[in-house]
Amino acid sequence: MLRNVHIVLVDTSHPGNIGAAARAMKNMGLARLHLVRPARFPSAEATARASGADDLLVAAQCHETLTDAVADCTLVLGVSARVRSLPWPMLEARAAARRAVTAAGRGPVALVFGREQSGLSNEELARCNFLVRIPADPVYSSLNLAAAVQVLAYELRLAAESGTEASPATEDAPPAVAADLERFYTHLEAVLVEIGFLEPASPRHLMRRLRRLFSRARPDRNELAILRGILSAVQARRIRPQVESGAGNGDGSMGSTP
Ligand code: SAH
Repeated sequence: MLRNVHIVLVDTSHPGNIGAAARAMKNMGLARLHLVRPARFPSAEATARASGADDLLVAAQCHETLTDAVADCTLVLGVSARVRSLPWPMLEARAAARRAVTAAGRGPVALVFGREQSGLSNEELARCNFLVRIPADPVYSSLNLAAAVQVLAYELRLAAESGTEASPATEDAPPAVAADLERFYTHLEAVLVEIGFLEPASPRHLMRRLRRLFSRARPDRNELAILRGILSAVQARRIRPQVESGAGNGDGSMGSTP
């Protein structure tokens, strides 16, 4: 199960933190390290701090964007200590680890860690299903990046050793991955602009709220296909408006007959 948990480090400035994170991961049985735009990598400092975990550095994948790094993941958790202006669903480290290990039984899961100086941006957080907080003293709650990876890696190990929860009975279709959701958001935004609901110059706030709504609901692949179908039907109707009102969508559910 732990092999399906990916650790993603965004914009890391100090290569030593990448090495120390790799070591923390390997100690706890994690193997998949993803780096988004690391300032310096590969680096001798990272290799030295990784010690016997340099194989994780060799296998680490680098990405240009967070969206690319989590594209194949069914659950994305943003690890962050910062309080947000738009509150986001939140889990504490222990509960997050249990969720992650359960979801890892059905596909890859990502834990995303932010920059040493400024953490994760709101746009990055909007790509996460949950924000994860490590309980700490409020007076000084910001851990070193590799120390934060260590805490989560340890919690993941404990969660994996205590076994996973059963999947809810409603899971009758494969989970959607982050790339499916990104395609849906792009389609949704285009339709909202086309119908004049969204101002193209300032889509951010509404789209963040809509992302929060759908990441709470976590639609599966079938449900996303239905939503995409609805969007395509709206677009088709705008291109070729139906002459008779109440013509419906062919299944009678929208007809004008009582
Ligand atoms: N000063 C930054 C914190 C950077 S610490 C800020 O304002 O956000 C580097 C990273 O370690 C964070 O982005 C986060 O992923 C993780 N981290 C550190 N302390 C944490 C805590 N108490 N809870 C959750 N994540 C934490």
